Amino acid sequence: MKISKDVVVSIEYTLRDDNGNVLDSSEGGEPLAYLHGNGNLIPGLEAQLEGKAANDTLKVVVAPADGYGELDAAQIVSVPKSQFAGVTDLAVGMQFTASGPEGQHVVTVTKIEDDTITVDGNHPLAGQTLTFDVKIIDVREATEEELSHGHVHGAGGHHH
Ligand code: ZN
Repeated sequence: MKISKDVVVSIEYTLRDDNGNVLDSSEGGEPLAYLHGNGNLIPGLEAQLEGKAANDTLKVVVAPADGYGELDAAQIVSVPKSQFAGVTDLAVGMQFTASGPEGQHVVTVTKIEDDTITVDGNHPLAGQTLTFDVKIIDVREATEEELSHGHVHGAGGHHH
């Protein structure tokens, strides 16, 4: 069967950045299972999988706008170190949940200078062109329960 809305798709994939560095891969683990057409994958990847079938392999290049978004300079802000009072061993790369006008989001510490801390609220993959090498392992009908939840249950999916 071909991939279309509301079918369950299992894929093996390797994700690389602009420089060919591997960012993520299913290698060595279970294939990733997702419910097609429900926003479970980034839009640029999901669109290219439409109409494909088991055993197909493809390379998908996803521009930032169809992936994790463009880098937004407004999301990079400097804050006084006093806002991190109580945090021991503050270091570059630490992540915190911040509350803003659009709700909670994760920020990453990117620079520490004396009493000023720079945090970046962009997704770590924002602004990057992503290349996925994908092999489609399986395509199956979704269960009623999976459709009502909007995600896959069991192997490679959610467990709850
Ligand atoms: Zn569920």
